[in-house]
Amino acid sequence: MHNFYFTPFLLCCNKSTSTGGARSSARDTDVSSPLVKTSSRLLFIAICVFSCNAGDGSETQYRTLRERMVSEQIAARGVTDERVLKAMQTVERHLFVPPNLRHKAYNDSPLPIGEGQTISQPYIVALMTEALKPDRSMNVLEIGTGSGYQAAVLSLLCNHVYTVEIIETLGRRAQTMLSSYRNISIRIGDGYNGWKEHAPFDAIIVTCAPTHLPAPLVEQLKEGGTMIIPFGERGTQELVLLTKKGGSIVEEGLIPVRFVPMVDSGGVTY
Ligand code: SAH
Repeated sequence: MHNFYFTPFLLCCNKSTSTGGARSSARDTDVSSPLVKTSSRLLFIAICVFSCNAGDGSETQYRTLRERMVSEQIAARGVTDERVLKAMQTVERHLFVPPNLRHKAYNDSPLPIGEGQTISQPYIVALMTEALKPDRSMNVLEIGTGSGYQAAVLSLLCNHVYTVEIIETLGRRAQTMLSSYRNISIRIGDGYNGWKEHAPFDAIIVTCAPTHLPAPLVEQLKEGGTMIIPFGERGTQELVLLTKKGGSIVEEGLIPVRFVPMVDSGGVTY
């Protein structure tokens, strides 16, 4: 499987910007009286302190953590598509995890998102996204919306993302999270049957694992289209890339993985 490593990183505010600002601010007030000088210095210090504490610092921290995630966990393991790397750098993963786990959002691991489900490890999200060779003309179906993170990443690279989630609370939460994304549609229901009304799809990504290949998904894949799906029995799942060619399916095994199971409405694994 893959190396597991974790890089702790400390937050600090952008010192060079503050110092540069301090100099020009002092110059701007040189012609004033000592009282004006002192009070404008105090005001400037107050602005600096405020801007370091008012969220800007943590956004800077998260951006830095994302840069590290992309370079150390994703590019270092062989994901090379610049658009995929940029999308992973852009989407704010910490907003898709529960607030008490935000400090772990850029760790090299999956995280719980409630209801016994998980958001996938960042590397796996990037690997699956790259494998689909996304482009702006593509309509993609995702099975297993979960937090909505994978859909958000794909939406930056494709024409439209249709995503299906079986657990209502997760689906509703993702609908709220993704409400500002114009090219994502979410349906709450059983994704084993795909989303017939919008088929056929240029690509299908499945982020929960059935024990066999769902026939409706194969049917809803366009000729020449690709599907990435983890399947197999618990403990022996493999991430598989499928291509539909001349009506039949060409299969390429990528890596061993461990995903949550694809279940029906009664909770039974497919
Ligand atoms: N892609 C998600 C992670 C998904 S975890 C993300 O980026 O956060 C797998 C998800 O698949 C879980 O939310 C689970 O509820 C969902 N799932 C399991 N069986 C399903 C089915 N038959 N149809 C749709 N979703 C299903």
